[in-house]
Amino acid sequence: MKVAKFGGSSVASAEQLKKVANIIMDDSDRRAIVVSAPGKRFKEDTKVTDLLIDLGQAYFNEDSYDYQLEQVMVRFKEITEQLQLPENVLKEIKQDLEKVLASEYSDELKVDAIKAIGEDSSAKVLSAYLQSLGLEATYLSPQEAGIIVSDEPGSAQILDESFDEIYKLRERKEIVVIPGFFGYTKEGKLVTFSRGGSDITGSIVAAGIKADLYENFTDVDSVYCVNPTIVDNPKEITALTYKEMRELSYAGFSVFHDEALIPAFKASIPVCIKNTNNPNGLGTIIVSQKETGDNPVVGIASDTGFLSLYVSKYLMNRELGFGRRLLHILEDECISFEHTPSGIDDLSVIIRESQLSVEKEQKVIERIKAELDPDMVHVERNLALIMIVGEGMNSTIGIAGKATAAFTEANVNLEMINQGSSEVSLMFGIKASGVNNAVKALYKSFFE
Ligand code: ASP
Repeated sequence: MKVAKFGGSSVASAEQLKKVANIIMDDSDRRAIVVSAPGKRFKEDTKVTDLLIDLGQAYFNEDSYDYQLEQVMVRFKEITEQLQLPENVLKEIKQDLEKVLASEYSDELKVDAIKAIGEDSSAKVLSAYLQSLGLEATYLSPQEAGIIVSDEPGSAQILDESFDEIYKLRERKEIVVIPGFFGYTKEGKLVTFSRGGSDITGSIVAAGIKADLYENFTDVDSVYCVNPTIVDNPKEITALTYKEMRELSYAGFSVFHDEALIPAFKASIPVCIKNTNNPNGLGTIIVSQKETGDNPVVGIASDTGFLSLYVSKYLMNRELGFGRRLLHILEDECISFEHTPSGIDDLSVIIRESQLSVEKEQKVIERIKAELDPDMVHVERNLALIMIVGEGMNSTIGIAGKATAAFTEANVNLEMINQGSSEVSLMFGIKASGVNNAVKALYKSFFE
């Protein structure tokens, strides 16, 4: 039994949905299908989820939201008409939206319920289309499928008890079509995962039903070893381990949501990334173990939007509890951190810029000065992280040397170097302005 998840671009239009149906019909093992909301049909297009977020914003600002509502409906109208679906499919989508807007939910829950309409409608459309082709298919809401999540609007987490419930889906004889991106709390409230979270649903369903394979259909042939918007025609990765994929998606590989790996990894379900527009291509397979090929490095990831909070104090190494108290201040201010590279008398805390606004920064600095009496504390913004990833690196000499030589060639100054003890990745912090040059130089050095 396979779980197939189709991303936004795969369900963006009637034409794409026809490809999706062909893929489903092509393999009778594809019995649990998870879908995103319609995404972009072309570069400048807007995803239905973004339209819904705009609609929600207008609604909460008490502005007219007719325009946004119209835009959402136009998308579904076009799809349902071109697929020649019965009129009630479109009617139901409109009614669902109106019902959510008129509901008594709290604002937070209403935001999530509005966002979820995209996936929910997409699943209804696909199941109606499969039925129209003569297949036995049913739309299943995440609640019926057994997806029970924590009460954290916008960033729900799956609860363990879900998996036994989801396992029961194996008994179904027909194809089930489940909307991605949201689940229900124990109390029956609809809550979404973080953005891009349909991948998470797919992984949860695959783990729950103990699928033989989780196929994640997107719009690229495979995972590339470097961001193709930085390097032209980069090499494709045919196989990756969960750990490698986790590290790559942490630092900007957006092909697969980083939280989506965990359920598949825990249940040892292989994940295959494939292209809806080229379903016979090999794609990229993600498994727990694989043979290391000739190159110990499988990919180079980069992401911007980081800052470094630098604190130094003479004899920091002997001051009991210094690190804990520093991190406690961050916890108190609800700031999560990413890494803490340290020296003898200094400590840097790497934080995503979205976590620490400029206003909050002042407060944090004041608290550090007052509570830790440091010699120096300052914040440096506009940093990028570059990660070189590969399980084979831990037994290979000279990776760091090769990487630093590439940085030299690109004339990029290194602000930070961090190697986790697992040696699956080597991380470099640099000024964001140098990131593209550095990535190009690293690609040349490791892959050409
Ligand atoms: N539609 C949601 C988003 O755009 C979730 C997804 O597509 O995976 O974030």
